[in-house]
Amino acid sequence: MTAEVRTVLITGAARGIGWATAKLFCGNGWNVTIGDVDIVEARMRASAYPGRMLALHLDVTDRASVEAAFATSLARWGRLDALVNNAGIQRHAPLAELSFENWLAVLDINLNGCFHCLKAAAGIMLRQGSGAIVNLASVAATRGAPGRAPYAASKAAIVSLTKTAAVEWAELGLRVNAVAPGYVETDLVRNVIAEGRLDVQPILDRTPARRLADPAEIAHAIYFLCSPEASYVNGHVFHVDGGFEADYGVPFFPPKPVGT
Ligand code: NAD
Repeated sequence: MTAEVRTVLITGAARGIGWATAKLFCGNGWNVTIGDVDIVEARMRASAYPGRMLALHLDVTDRASVEAAFATSLARWGRLDALVNNAGIQRHAPLAELSFENWLAVLDINLNGCFHCLKAAAGIMLRQGSGAIVNLASVAATRGAPGRAPYAASKAAIVSLTKTAAVEWAELGLRVNAVAPGYVETDLVRNVIAEGRLDVQPILDRTPARRLADPAEIAHAIYFLCSPEASYVNGHVFHVDGGFEADYGVPFFPPKPVGT
């Protein structure tokens, strides 16, 4: 047990943003627990960091699974300094055709899963009198997202939950923030492009940076919010989106000459 080394638990960390975040924390000397339903991938990745990373089966929709994973992580590392609520999915359908099952599936993972993990972490962190939590929101939280109703609704609710938890727990030593990425090059996005459900060009046209994010760019924002350097940052929604949220959306007119 290494009580003096900081520890983070990251959900959905077998790939994508979660995995990039796990590597960053590990590189900065933290002990890392990666929890994912894909335990084969999680174990394979964690095996490259022996003694520093613990891979656990964790289904965020299942309270017993969440409680078991947090207990195992605590027993392994002796403390919990940060939680990254990262596990999330999308289901695409026009709202009028969206099944209740798909609505529930997204809310169950993205929102209820976040709630279960938030509570499990708070149980440990409130006893410690310290801890930082980062929830993954999205630029979709504050906008209409055609074809992605449950996803956008879940992310809006995460923003709200983040702020309430931040306010409730601030004087008890906990901080709760959210990171709202734009489009990030991960399996989640690659899959919807491959399925023909997302045309990347309008996304690039709509994003001032004219590119997707690398998962490591999201990881750095998450890491900062969990670090002691962010000790007075609480209840904040940190957009990491290449300028997407800031853009009014009306193109430059008359068109800029190329290169200016
Ligand atoms: P991803 O699909 O690449 O990875 C998600 C991981 O979550 C997978 O390893 C998957 O096995 C795991 N997972 C799924 N269901 C789970 C469950 N019930 N319990 C535990 N783990 C589960 O996703 P990503 O693109 O890395 O996204 C991570 C987070 O960032 C999500 O919350 C997503 O909504 C958010 N986000 C992503 C983007 C983007 O463009 N990729 C943009 C904004 C927000």
